[in-house]
Amino acid sequence: MAERIRIGLIYPELLGTYGDRGNAEVLAWRAARHGLAAEVAEVPAGEPVPPCLDIYVLGGGEDAAQGVAGRLLRSVAGDGLRRAADQSRVVLAVCGAFQLLGRVYLDGRGEEIPGLELLDVETTTGTPRLVGEVVTMSREGELLTGFENHGGRSVLGHEVEPLGRVLRGGGNNGHDATEGARQGAVFGTYLHGPVLARNPALADLLLSQALERRGRRLGPLQPAGRDWAADLHLARLQAVLSRRGWLRLVRRSRAWPVAHQPHQAQVDTAK
Ligand code: GLN
Repeated sequence: MAERIRIGLIYPELLGTYGDRGNAEVLAWRAARHGLAAEVAEVPAGEPVPPCLDIYVLGGGEDAAQGVAGRLLRSVAGDGLRRAADQSRVVLAVCGAFQLLGRVYLDGRGEEIPGLELLDVETTTGTPRLVGEVVTMSREGELLTGFENHGGRSVLGHEVEPLGRVLRGGGNNGHDATEGARQGAVFGTYLHGPVLARNPALADLLLSQALERRGRRLGPLQPAGRDWAADLHLARLQAVLSRRGWLRLVRRSRAWPVAHQPHQAQVDTAK
């Protein structure tokens, strides 16, 4: 019998800017292509978050919706997410949700929204908003693409590493060339797209982590005709990179720095 992967889509009506709910669908689709049986459990705002799912996905949101989601996630009903993360279950949080999983988010009105402290990250609001296409490189050497739109400036602490190093775009704060965060099995990113539709390799990384937790490995991809996800990934890279000679930069950037330098030299992020 096929191994089962349970995916939780948390508070999609609050945290779902730019179609982030698609991340759950892509995970399920990708899981099926790896021969797994996938099931998506949608958790509406305020409903108890089940603590025993394999992968949790949360999307972005405007400040007001984000504040509500933050309160719910810190309530008894929302506590399942923190308990799941404590058991090394996989979490992917995009944009507003990424900020909520950090230590604190100081929103546009100067209001302090306490985070879940699953990521050693602090976010304050700055100007201008960081908006546009982003390309980063993960520590596995994968090029990740996405679209960012955030006022938040996130700074990583020592317990966390970036999800990617910025080759194009603003990233976490527009200064230190970091994008997103990863700490154990908790992943945060500013990349919309939805990010997993644009980066199937990241979907596979999340699935592998979920299976590794059970001592299992992700099987090979089963053929599925034309690979639309791979086509999209390439199309977005070409659209962004070819314009300003970024491919040259990418070729030079194969090596991932072993230790993350909190304020490493800035890669040119001019748009
Ligand atoms: N409210 C946050 C910001 O602007 C998150 C935005 C989003 O999720 N798109 O930084």
